[in-house]
Amino acid sequence: MTDTDVIIAGAGPAGLMLAGELCLAGVRPVVLERYPQPRDTPKASGIGGQILNLLRYRDLLDRFEAAASDPHPPPRFPFGGVHVDLRGLVDPPLRAVAIAQVDTERVLAEHAAELGTEIRRGHEAGRNPVPRHHISGRQQGRSCRRARYGDRFRQR
Ligand SMILES: Cc1cc2nc3c(=O)[nH]c(=O)nc-3n(C[C@H](O)[C@H](O)[C@H](O)COP(=O)(O)OP(=O)(O)OC[C@H]3O[C@@H](n4cnc5c(N)ncnc54)[C@H](O)[C@@H]3O)c2cc1C
Repeated sequence: MTDTDVIIAGAGPAGLMLAGELCLAGVRPVVLERYPQPRDTPKASGIGGQILNLLRYRDLLDRFEAAASDPHPPPRFPFGGVHVDLRGLVDPPLRAVAIAQVDTERVLAEHAAELGTEIRRGHEAGRNPVPRHHISGRQQGRSCRRARYGDRFRQR
């Protein structure tokens, strides 16, 4: 039985990053991910822009760079069919870390778990396959979980 403040649907980059941020704010989240195992489907091949500053601020950038295929790729970005080439600039305003999304998710999952996030894989949020005995809610009228899930979040 688990009591939790917030249920996050999905262990993608957004859900895992949110989980870590909530932990740092003193909120206890549970992440439900419908797939039982992390999937290595090729998706994003890097991260760049302002998120790098946020990761540095959270002392996480070193971990991403360590997991990257290229921690400091030349500032040349594919954007749709256009390649933005910033290599001629002395101080390019954009930076990137070449890291496969599966590795981004692994680093974020490790970070979130270290901070106290419970990640439950093989559970789909919001549908019947969510086992009632795995999630319980506090009896608070302001609970957004109760608003979303109603009686399925009675305290046990
Ligand atoms: C082929 C491809 C190439 C891409 N290349 C790039 C790129 O080069 N650069 C870039 O920035 N982006 C790229 N993207 C986009 C990038 O992958 C997405 O922006 C990113 O995955 C979005 O993260 P997310 O956490 O919001 O969602 P997702 O990564 O989609 O994660 C959502 C997760 O939630 C789970 N889920 C959904 N509903 C439920 C539910 N009800 N209960 C439990 N679990 C649930 C899903 O299984 C999934 O694991 C690419 C995407 C694809 C498909």
